[in-house]
Amino acid sequence: MSGSSTVAIHADRGVQPSRAVAPPIYQTATFWADDAEQFTQAAVHRRGQGFYTRYGNPNHAQVAAVVAELEHTEAAMVTASGMAALTTAVLALVSAGDHVIGQQSTYGGTASVLLNLLPRLGVSITQVDQTDRAAFERALTPQTRLILVESPSNPLLQLTDLRAVADLARAHNVLTMADNTFATPINQRPADFGIDLVWHSATKYLNGHSDVSAGVLAGPAQLLDRIWDVAVLTGAVLGPIDAWLLLRGLRTLPLRMPRHNANGQALAEALHDHPAVTRVHYPGLASHPQHALAAGQMSGFGGVLAIELAGGFEAADAFLGRLRYARRSASLGGVESLAVHPASMWRGMLSEQQLSDSGVPPGLVRLAAGTEDTADLVDDVLAAADAVAAVPTTAQELAR
Ligand SMILES: *Cc1c(COP(=O)(O)O)cnc(C)c1O
Repeated sequence: MSGSSTVAIHADRGVQPSRAVAPPIYQTATFWADDAEQFTQAAVHRRGQGFYTRYGNPNHAQVAAVVAELEHTEAAMVTASGMAALTTAVLALVSAGDHVIGQQSTYGGTASVLLNLLPRLGVSITQVDQTDRAAFERALTPQTRLILVESPSNPLLQLTDLRAVADLARAHNVLTMADNTFATPINQRPADFGIDLVWHSATKYLNGHSDVSAGVLAGPAQLLDRIWDVAVLTGAVLGPIDAWLLLRGLRTLPLRMPRHNANGQALAEALHDHPAVTRVHYPGLASHPQHALAAGQMSGFGGVLAIELAGGFEAADAFLGRLRYARRSASLGGVESLAVHPASMWRGMLSEQQLSDSGVPPGLVRLAAGTEDTADLVDDVLAAADAVAAVPTTAQELAR
């Protein structure tokens, strides 16, 4: 089998209906057929590429070929966003009366699918502490059909033992689905541990340039066919240009990830002992409570870390304001560093109760290290942390 860098550049070659070295953009909503027989064939071809773009397009098929080979799965498909991948799969795989297990620490959109969307459809849910292997088993019911995991989780960087969850699910005939957005197939391949379906916000590392919203699903062809049957109904189709940009981004994923990994590790180590910082959440630090699990199932730890500022909400906000390179933005995984203060982002979205249930402290900042020079990023975060540490508290000011 070829290495990831070769796969990212050549895995779609058999899919290309053209001899152009750079694949053309199939900017068409529909395709024509020679005769009735051909037309019928094209219409029933699941995840095909020559009937109608909502049903499939050559640019989709090229991305899918690369993602499937990178993730070590039989097949893959693309959607208009990461959330479209999740909701389409869930709508295809569960029905009223079923039960779904998810994590307490999980991406906000995933949490909302669990807490708001599924219960409205008559699907019951249980959220578990993913760091506790036994919690998944305790949550199983005879109605459980699906377990949704995310490792490392957004934004707390908690890990899930993928092999343990996959083994448990297989033994009970339950499907598993892993959000691999933070790790990417360069750092972790959930299918190698027995996870059935892998999904991504391809908006993040897979595309890598903060210029496309996209999602992917990877897994067995038969399972993806069931999901595709629903995808043509929900209609969350990726535009051909966006699929083409995503393919271009994928070409350099294996080159970009080692730099993201190195930058994430360097920032985590630099901030770990800083007096303004009480805690650094990063699976590559020996102090991460699940570092051994991380080292066992990941080959790199990614560019995202979360830090807790000693000064709480105000210090976190001030820290972001001092950063020169990382801009305040809700995404991650691009070549440019970004930072977000979840407590201020969620202020308008969540109630006080939901904020405290999220387990995300008010002084937490999520840093997504880009591919800039490591020394520049380290100098920048240290300067921001120094500045925050030096700001006198109101009490100190009053005492003067
Ligand atoms: C961003 C993100 C999503 C949602 O993906 P979109 O492409 O924004 O729909 C899902 N999971 C994780 C971990 C994410 O970071």
